[in-house]
Amino acid sequence: MSEPVANAMAEAMRLTGNASSVHGFGRVHRQRVEEAREEVAALAGVKPERVVFTSGGTEANNLALKAGGQQRTLISGIEHDSVLQAAGNSVVLPTNPDGVVDWSLLAESEGLETTLVSVMLANNETGVIQPVAEIVESASRIGAAVHTDAVQAAGRIPLDISGLGVAMASLSAHKIGGPQGVGALILGAEFPFTAQIKGGGQERGRRAGTENTAGIVGFGVAAQIAQTRLDDMNRIGRLRDEMEMRLRREIQDLSIFGDSVPRLANTSCFAVPGLRAETQVMALDLAGVAVSAGSACSSGKVTPSHVLRAMGVSEAQASCAIRVSLGPENTVTDVERLLAALVGLRRRSGPHPATAA
Ligand code: PLP
Repeated sequence: MSEPVANAMAEAMRLTGNASSVHGFGRVHRQRVEEAREEVAALAGVKPERVVFTSGGTEANNLALKAGGQQRTLISGIEHDSVLQAAGNSVVLPTNPDGVVDWSLLAESEGLETTLVSVMLANNETGVIQPVAEIVESASRIGAAVHTDAVQAAGRIPLDISGLGVAMASLSAHKIGGPQGVGALILGAEFPFTAQIKGGGQERGRRAGTENTAGIVGFGVAAQIAQTRLDDMNRIGRLRDEMEMRLRREIQDLSIFGDSVPRLANTSCFAVPGLRAETQVMALDLAGVAVSAGSACSSGKVTPSHVLRAMGVSEAQASCAIRVSLGPENTVTDVERLLAALVGLRRRSGPHPATAA
């Protein structure tokens, strides 16, 4: 979280009242909430009234999947667990070995009353950007609406949720330098929508509950900063590419997932054969580098990533995969520290038998 975000939140936490109170104190809260709504709307490329604040990306995804009471849902196999589990019994679109969702099945769904398709804008493990515009076009031919989980894409690629034609998009503040526990569901095109959290008229009746003013204010400031930092993604992309180039030079049997298709500039997901992900994560942690094995949200589990498995990566290879995310503060010194730790670990462990043979 950046300093301006923390400062704005600290100030908001000291306010008296809440955004639903009609007295002067309440109106100050309301003003802060609506200013933040404007910033988040600007980041998403929609009008402010299209922003529904939630407790995070997980709630936004659950709301999107349930708000329309869909009979039949199509999702991809690389979605975040909050989509996979909220969608329940749905048809799963396949993913190609590069990590791109194959939507050709959509055309075959004509007449099957699919009412909602949910495919993320960019994957959280590989960073691979998904063909959501094409999916929207294909879905419209069978009369289905599209939801996209834009949690990872926000702040890394420009968003134009209205132009994209999706009915709904999910955002999370803590992925763009804002606080944890705040997010938003963005309503793009017209979509029949029923609140899932009931018991108050907040958020135009779309999500009940007293507004988390401090969190929302932090989200607004983070959204504003994220907009100005989009250009920095080019520098981050060059740093990521240099890291991958040097890793490849040192570890010849390295596999980098999704490297031949458009990816978010900050993400790199790769496998070092023979070196289990947990071993890599621990060695890097000792060197002061924090990375994830598979998806961070499920890193307590030792099961290989469902994303890599959906891409057809073998269980053995997936269990040796880690994900490195770079941020605006990272420099070449950080990359060198990662390289030294990982290359050192590989040397100590010896080459993978398959490579040595
Ligand atoms: N969707 C994606 C793609 C994510 O990466 C995450 C979190 O990592 C979420 C949803 C969940 O967001 P939150 O942590 O705000 O609940």
